Amino acid sequence: MKSEILIHPEELTHKQIHRMASLGVNILGIHPVGGNDAADSLKQLLCRLEEPSFRALLDDAAEHGLEIEYEMHAASYLLPREMFAEHPTYFRMNEAGERVSDFDFCPSNEEGLALIAARAAELAHKLYRSRHTYYFWMDDGRNHACHCPKCRRFSASEQQLIALNRILQELKKTIPDAKMAHIAYVDRIEVPQQVKPEEGIFLEFAPYEKYMKDPDRQRQEEEQRALPLLLSYFGTRDAKVLEYWLDNSLFSHWKKPPKPFFANADTVAAEVRAYAKMGFAQIATFGCFLGDDYEALYGEPDITPFTDAFQALDR
Ligand SMILES: [Zn+2]
Repeated sequence: MKSEILIHPEELTHKQIHRMASLGVNILGIHPVGGNDAADSLKQLLCRLEEPSFRALLDDAAEHGLEIEYEMHAASYLLPREMFAEHPTYFRMNEAGERVSDFDFCPSNEEGLALIAARAAELAHKLYRSRHTYYFWMDDGRNHACHCPKCRRFSASEQQLIALNRILQELKKTIPDAKMAHIAYVDRIEVPQQVKPEEGIFLEFAPYEKYMKDPDRQRQEEEQRALPLLLSYFGTRDAKVLEYWLDNSLFSHWKKPPKPFFANADTVAAEVRAYAKMGFAQIATFGCFLGDDYEALYGEPDITPFTDAFQALDR
């Protein structure tokens, strides 16, 4: 089983890398900031990936035994919003029946989807030293499904899976062992019924509702109820959970300066054990807002609640 910590690209330092490597983390996840500016933060990441100094950091990570992955909200990068005027039908239809360029796209438009898949394949090749596991998530948030006559019979998670299947077919043309994550979170937590995953699509379960301050109990229950069903639908091979145990960006409400951070080691240990027992192959957590600016304010961040929990599994 593999462990992974996801951080923002601007937080990557040799110190972070050495800390993760010395504590036995297997994978370094690079996660450009999500939200409404996700396309811009992804573009900034791609610029960084051209810089020798940033590549040197990733080389250092690899030399210290860390594998590298990139996880990001990619929909508005893959289908640039500027294309709306010329190709409105590539974009989603809202509940009022209007084509809109706010979020995601129409996964039933063959031409649009072909363009998205081609751009995804290009993007995959720009991700320096990436494992052949790709995380091109839809836009951040909920209620982004397409309501066009072709799409409306599919749930949000089914629409996502239609797009991922097509993208993966394209990736496999140049990266035959490519795999793609179907992220199950917020309103894409529902188990697909009418769409089957292509070979190489794996489950990524991100229990976001669990962390909401003003919890909608029904959403949290749905999330927990969906988990075993998702595992049985997608299988446990390569199945990954993406947790928020070390996510100081969430705990800081995505606003800098970061808040002081403490993870509850007992909770993390119990949850890591439970996920391992369910058969997950990879256990990841966001670990954002714990970079140099954090360290300057509060000293070295403690990621051992996660890494200790992982090492305890082997004992
Ligand atoms: Zn549609």
